[in-house]
Order: sequence, then structure tokens, then C-alpha cells
Amino acid sequence: MKEENTDFEIDSKSKALMEKWQRQADSLKKQHPKWNAEKIQEEMKKRIIRDAEAAFSTKSGKEYIKEVNAHLKEIEDARNRAIDGIMTYMGKTSPEAVGTVLFELDCGCIRACAVSNEGSPMGEMIMVSGKKVEEDYECSVCKDDGGADPERCISKAIIWPGEEADMPSEELRLAIGKKVFGDDYSVDDI
Ligand SMILES: [Zn+2]
Repeated sequence: MKEENTDFEIDSKSKALMEKWQRQADSLKKQHPKWNAEKIQEEMKKRIIRDAEAAFSTKSGKEYIKEVNAHLKEIEDARNRAIDGIMTYMGKTSPEAVGTVLFELDCGCIRACAVSNEGSPMGEMIMVSGKKVEEDYECSVCKDDGGADPERCISKAIIWPGEEADMPSEELRLAIGKKVFGDDYSVDDI
């Protein structure tokens, strides 16, 4: 078969695997002439999953997972630094606020606003990039839509500053949460 120019190139390892699967599918057809395409696909799915599992149990598979985990930790650390930064900022600009509302977006940015005892916003809504806060990273996605698209919000929370003993009562936290996020807010969220 003549190779066509494609938009992307697959690495030789993946290509070899695909060729192997193609050969296996061909020989299945020969061995089981009564099998239809669906039956062959079903059998191939099992073999492909088996191959994938074998690949991940090899050293290179483990190293790959280690790399992914290290990257996830990096993202988590950046997020924690961003939230710490927001809480420090809120402590200075709205010291009388009872908590800070966080809206985390799918691009890694966080929108934040201080909230009063009555659940009303205090001061300004601020925007912090959770990606590279220390480098003042400007997110191109948020630049386009201002970060206000509720569809892009992946997590909402209220952070209560200070020690656990300083926290408002569960009843008050629930009331504030409902005022901010609506009646869906429950004890599990606080
Ligand atoms: Zn963003």
C-alpha cells in the first residue's frame, strides 16, 4: 500500500502496533470466516486492551506514568500557590470578609471574591492564573472571554481563612454558601 501524506505523523512504535493489530484482524477473518465485522472488532478490542496493559507494566510505561504524576503535582502546587496568594491579598484588602469565594476555570485560572457575613460580595472580583502565578502569566483563553463563562467553571468553593476555631458556624457557612451559589449548596460543600 502506498503511503499518503498525512497531517500528523505517528511514531514508529505506534505504527508497528497498528500493523500488528491489522495482521491479527486479517488472520481472525481467515480463521473464522463466519464472524462478522462486529465480532472481529470485539475480539480485537480485547487484544488491544491486553497489549496496552502490557505496555504500561513495562519500565517505559511506569516512567511515563511517573512523568504524568510529576506534571499533575506541578499543577496542584501552582494551584495551591495561587490560592495562598489570593487569601493573602484578601486578608489585606478585605480584612473584615468572612471568606473568599473561588471559581476555578478549565484553563487553570481562578476568579476570586471576598464575601461578607451576609453572603454579599466585598471588594472586587480578582483573577489569578493558576498556571504560572509567579510569572504573572496571562491566559489567552480568559483574555478572549474575560473568564466569565459559567460553562468553563469546573469548581466553586468558599475558603474560610484562619484556624479551624475561627471558622463561622456550620449553619452560617451553609447560609453564606446558599446565598452565593444558590440552594444547591449543601453541607457536603462546606
Ligand atoms: Zn484563564
